[in-house]
Amino acid sequence: MVDPIQIKDLTYKYDTDGEEVLKKISLTVKKGEWVAIIGHNGSGKSTLSRFLNGLLVPEAGEVIINGMDTRDEDKMWEIRKYVGLVFQNPENQLVGTTVKDDIAFGLENNGVPTMEMEERIRNSAEKVGIAHLLSEEPHRLSGGQKQRLAIAGIIAIQPSVIVLDESTSMLDPQGRKEVIQTVLHLRETENITVISITHDIDEASLADRILVMSDGEIVRDGAPEDILTDEEFLIDQSLDVPFSVKLQRYLLKEGINLNHVTLSLDDLVEELW
Ligand code: ADP
Repeated sequence: MVDPIQIKDLTYKYDTDGEEVLKKISLTVKKGEWVAIIGHNGSGKSTLSRFLNGLLVPEAGEVIINGMDTRDEDKMWEIRKYVGLVFQNPENQLVGTTVKDDIAFGLENNGVPTMEMEERIRNSAEKVGIAHLLSEEPHRLSGGQKQRLAIAGIIAIQPSVIVLDESTSMLDPQGRKEVIQTVLHLRETENITVISITHDIDEASLADRILVMSDGEIVRDGAPEDILTDEEFLIDQSLDVPFSVKLQRYLLKEGINLNHVTLSLDDLVEELW
């Protein structure tokens, strides 16, 4: 089976005489994986995400999505259907006068027949838990509901990969939780591949794999339990240290013996979520 995302030696600069914002990035993401991308501001995370559905096209290196080269203009629509991008601010993504119209918009653009549209709208609204809001006006929804609507609009198109670019950062804790649970559910039920760019270290800790970007490079690629417990590295990268890691260090410093306590990062995060 071909991997959904294969990037090889991707180098990019916005201006020909400007700095390289991506430097020889190589990356493979497997089907059904949840990869969180973290890194300081300006490290190139958003730029990288724009290469994943062809919003940006490589000049040096290559980006292959489900076997399709993003430089191939004939494949552009197929690539956009395969990878759905959800941005930070839900307000900018909502276009319909009702929730239903809003989800319909992307389907119309993709030429989905009317009969099938009804079914896809209902299905995607149900998957993100907003089926009871279909005739609501989008601007009346809460932040979490708006972002879930933006996700519904994307999943109605039935992508295999969802890229969330800081999609939870404008939400309150409840909204964040709603969006993350929605995505987790989709991954479980549909085996969707998820790429989430986030500042929220607790959110990143739930992913299968974390990529850390710094100055246009991937400086670490590994399991959350390896990366997020490396306090020195996180501080060096101007990243937050997870609460659970700080707590463990504090308890150890105070001489509290944890040998008989099963305090795993996963358990703790689950408990606190
Ligand atoms: P991150 O998402 O990690 O904050 P970005 O990918 O947004 O990083 O930005 C990486 C670098 O590219 C930064 O130096 C930023 O100023 C620059 N940049 C981002 N978008 C543009 C743009 N549209 N035009 C020129 N430079 C840009």
